[in-house]
Amino acid sequence: MKRMWMAFLSIVIIVLISVPGVREIGFSPASAQSRALAPAPGLIEEENAAAEAAIPSTSSAQHHIVKTASDSTLPPAAKATSLEKESGPQAILAASSSRQASTPSAEPKKEKVVYLTFDDGPSKLTDEILAILEEQKIKATFFVLGEHAQKSPEIIYRMAEAGHVIGNHTYNHKYSELYESFTAFWNQIKRTEEILREITSTRTSLVRAPGGTYGHFDSTYFQLMEQGGYRVFDWNVDSGDSKRKGVPASEIIENVTSEKLEKEMIVLMHDSAGHEESVKALPKIIDFYKQNGYSFEVLSPEQKPVQFSLSKKMTDRAAPAESWIENHVLPNAALFGPGQPLYVEAGGVQTKLAAGEYKVDQGQLIVPLRTTLERLGAEVSWNAGSRNVIVVWGELHLTLDPERGTARREDTEVPVEIGTDRFRSQGGSLWMSLRSLLELTDHPIISVTNTAEERRVQSL
Ligand SMILES: [Zn+2]
Repeated sequence: MKRMWMAFLSIVIIVLISVPGVREIGFSPASAQSRALAPAPGLIEEENAAAEAAIPSTSSAQHHIVKTASDSTLPPAAKATSLEKESGPQAILAASSSRQASTPSAEPKKEKVVYLTFDDGPSKLTDEILAILEEQKIKATFFVLGEHAQKSPEIIYRMAEAGHVIGNHTYNHKYSELYESFTAFWNQIKRTEEILREITSTRTSLVRAPGGTYGHFDSTYFQLMEQGGYRVFDWNVDSGDSKRKGVPASEIIENVTSEKLEKEMIVLMHDSAGHEESVKALPKIIDFYKQNGYSFEVLSPEQKPVQFSLSKKMTDRAAPAESWIENHVLPNAALFGPGQPLYVEAGGVQTKLAAGEYKVDQGQLIVPLRTTLERLGAEVSWNAGSRNVIVVWGELHLTLDPERGTARREDTEVPVEIGTDRFRSQGGSLWMSLRSLLELTDHPIISVTNTAEERRVQSL
């Protein structure tokens, strides 16, 4: 009897131990697959397809872990990556429902929130604002101009390092260009986005329209920006610091403090040249919100943006062609959608393609040829006469002819037939399977990994 009892107990113990383990296996990104040394042709493709199927939606529980950590401890770069992962519809839902639920953290969530936003920078004044914010231990959101960011990348870098959030305020702020057609607006957003990504290694989906959306955005602008994965933020407190030149600090403070207090205040200020008075007013504005029990936060793509209503007088400008939208706006949304980044290691260099910067088609990883190679350190040029792509990477000198489907190395006379189907043209750029690209450039693949967090291709 005693023996039976012992046997029963041990079964119970085994069950108790093994059940969570089993669950864990099912839960964890068990689909992580890696294979050592040159896989047979077609193998990578199959692996990716299998892994794709195995992780239908990267577990939201895991996202929450990432999110919690990113809120407090991670550097700006890591923070943005986790936001990137979270900004899908599912994640937004999860994020907003967790916001409603009681927060398990020790510090109770403050009810009243103020978002300080600074537009048109960076300029020499930005560092003064950064110093005030640091002293007061608060974070703000900066909607910067690509033109200015290009001239002062070090200030953008300092902003990101200090944990402030950087948004996109177009390249040159010129209404006549920006509000003439949506494509012009879009091009400036993309141009600025790339400049900021170069500096901070992250991609911002936060946008503020120069002058605000009212009277500038028609329904196409609103709709396509949303479709493209962007969050366009207006404001509900205008500090009035750019109503005319040299608005005195006292007037700026008066404008801000006379506004009716709401639970959520988005304050518009400017940090471009000539706004010394805004800098002067800032400490008083911060004091005012502190005294009224506000906490200071940064704008996030997960929150519902404050937007002005569509102006009734606004006449719709011609919308871009369907084909343009398909080539530009729709694939862009994936940049901010859920999905893993793709890390490529080749020749001792690692680069990252964000979700949306690469595609998975029938299990194959398809990458933009030029972007991928350049980030890995190769030089890529286009010979318009011969319609060839020239790749120079270390010792390698390779000429690709997408129309004939050939590749020719400098050390050989005869081009090798690789097939036109290896190349794809999309959105005005040339794409290729990553596998083909690495093989053609003498970087054979040694392993392919696919987890819920990332895809990784390692090559020699
Ligand atoms: Zn502006």
